[in-house]
Amino acid sequence: MHLATVGVGSNLGDREAIMRDAILWIGAQPGNILRACSSLYETEPFGNTDQEWFLNCVIQVDTSLPLKEFFRLLQEGEDRSGRTRTERWGPRLLDLDLLFFNDTVHSDAVLTVPHPGVAVRRFVMEPLCEVAPDLVHPLLKKTVRVLLDELGDSSRVVRLDRPSVLAH
Ligand code: AMP
Repeated sequence: MHLATVGVGSNLGDREAIMRDAILWIGAQPGNILRACSSLYETEPFGNTDQEWFLNCVIQVDTSLPLKEFFRLLQEGEDRSGRTRTERWGPRLLDLDLLFFNDTVHSDAVLTVPHPGVAVRRFVMEPLCEVAPDLVHPLLKKTVRVLLDELGDSSRVVRLDRPSVLAH
């Protein structure tokens, strides 16, 4: 089994329902077991700030799929939500980012793992620290907890005090 850590985000439509549907779908695919799901966080848009705030969370999945197959599954998950791949940093129904895959370090034309943005984005690091504070970044050789302490990104990230996105 492999441990995949995935960032989930949405800033269009019924954000919570879109995220819940995607997370349940990922967990229901053959070879996958949903292991953890963080709280939801409402987060200021990154890059293009003239858009709705995002909802973000981080999940962990035990998977028997190899790296590239698991990544293809995430892309299929984005596509089935009706996402269109147009504007960079623009509004999106669903964003699924593969943050870590075990301690694999990999880069090709379509996939970089660990995700290059992981350690510099507060909207990723806060939910990540909730589910995996002791996970060590395989390139930076520091835990998530330490990386969050050292984070320079001061964008606004608000943890929502409500039941899990999966609790409905
Ligand atoms: P974005 O629109 O920011 O979600 O970026 C999507 C693009 O990033 C796609 O073309 C992916 O092939 C590429 N990509 C590279 N590495 C990753 C990763 N670890 N997780 C998600 N997308 C990735």
